[in-house]
Amino acid sequence: MKPIAIIGSGLAGYTVAREFRKLDKTTPLIIITGDDGGFYSKPMLSNAFALGKQPQQLQSKTADQMAAELNATILTKTLVSGINTVTQSVQTKVGEFDYSQLVLALGAQAMRLPIAGDAADQVLSVNNLADYVVFRDKLAQAGDKARVTILGAGLIGCEFSDDLATAGHKVTLIDPNTLPLAALAPAVISQGLHAALYAKGVQLKLGTTATHIAKRDHAIQVTLTNGESFDTDVVLSAVGLRADIRLAQAAQLQTDRGIIINEYGQTSAPDIFALGDCAQYRQADGSHSLMPYVAPIMTAAKAIALSLTGQLTSMDTKLSAVLVKTPSYPVALIPPAFAVSKSGTWESNHADGVTISRYFDESKKLHGFAVAPQEAKSRNALIAELTEAQAMQLN
Ligand SMILES: Cc1cc2nc3c(=O)[nH]c(=O)nc-3n(C[C@H](O)[C@H](O)[C@H](O)COP(=O)(O)OP(=O)(O)OC[C@H]3O[C@@H](n4cnc5c(N)ncnc54)[C@H](O)[C@@H]3O)c2cc1C
Repeated sequence: MKPIAIIGSGLAGYTVAREFRKLDKTTPLIIITGDDGGFYSKPMLSNAFALGKQPQQLQSKTADQMAAELNATILTKTLVSGINTVTQSVQTKVGEFDYSQLVLALGAQAMRLPIAGDAADQVLSVNNLADYVVFRDKLAQAGDKARVTILGAGLIGCEFSDDLATAGHKVTLIDPNTLPLAALAPAVISQGLHAALYAKGVQLKLGTTATHIAKRDHAIQVTLTNGESFDTDVVLSAVGLRADIRLAQAAQLQTDRGIIINEYGQTSAPDIFALGDCAQYRQADGSHSLMPYVAPIMTAAKAIALSLTGQLTSMDTKLSAVLVKTPSYPVALIPPAFAVSKSGTWESNHADGVTISRYFDESKKLHGFAVAPQEAKSRNALIAELTEAQAMQLN
């Protein structure tokens, strides 16, 4: 019997495997992964200091423990180099493996800015636990009050800024936009976050970017497009991720910014599924979006697991908010889709220290929201409001 194969051992790969094993204890399962196959929760990487965790405490299970739990064969440190959709097999340096059905859970690659200077290669990114171990080592070498420069004030850059400032590090946050979280949040919420990070000691250098990063004695010198230069110990790039579509493209599966999947999680080859950061999910209106968050993984994994047992199941498209882990000013939001966000406006109100912004299109239909400081009650009320508005729009 050919096994079901999963490529990738991040949250997406392991969650599908867990959901599948709840339904089927015996069908052979093989997981092939480029990393060491340890299980960890990636969101913890940007609030590990707040959680009081050392990097090695973030891994809760080794690959061997996962293999036992899942009754699976796990090949670690093994990159899949090709997929043959005709023979239903994948190629690796240790041989070829047949599959009956395949799940792509390949994640995304950290984007890099083109920066000049002889220390540009010292710029770090954190997109997995191994990256985070390297980052924490560099911080430790620089001491308790390391100077850390973060490129990119999006979700991940803001979370790291808050967490590192909490731990006593001297953080400088750089972004070409004039406010943090500018791509996701309304200005009023971004201003609240700006004030909270500033109060915590984060230096925000906005409306500019790093153009040159050079070695300087025992430090790194960062030069900005506005001409300013300063010394720092560690530079962390958080400028975004690019879905990993290389294998899918080579196998001639349909791709765009991610691997295109239908409502069942199937790619353009019906026996190959995809989910997680590599996938571009089908939306209710028929368009496809990247959704590089945990919640879509959970719903996709449940549906794909059922589909792998032969019961083709569509994903539950329940709305869930993106929670920004900035304890100084916790934000929850569901940003409007790009096409809508060009034509509508945010409307905000403040009550009892809480700011709520709703995004309406020209005909006053609700398409998104942001709330801060957020907590479950206000967040859930807004999700319910948006769910109802979307149901009315579809009818
Ligand atoms: C710092 C940080 C904080 C975050 N915080 C939040 C949060 O608070 N809330 C939230 O919802 N989301 C958060 N996210 C996003 C969320 O963590 C990701 O959406 C999710 O973890 C992605 O999981 P994945 O399995 O798709 O990808 P990954 O975890 O990247 O896994 C990809 C896997 O594929 C393997 N792989 C890739 N190519 C190959 C190949 N050719 N052959 C074999 N194996 C291969 C890799 O080795 C890896 O095992 C955060 C992300 C980061 C970086």
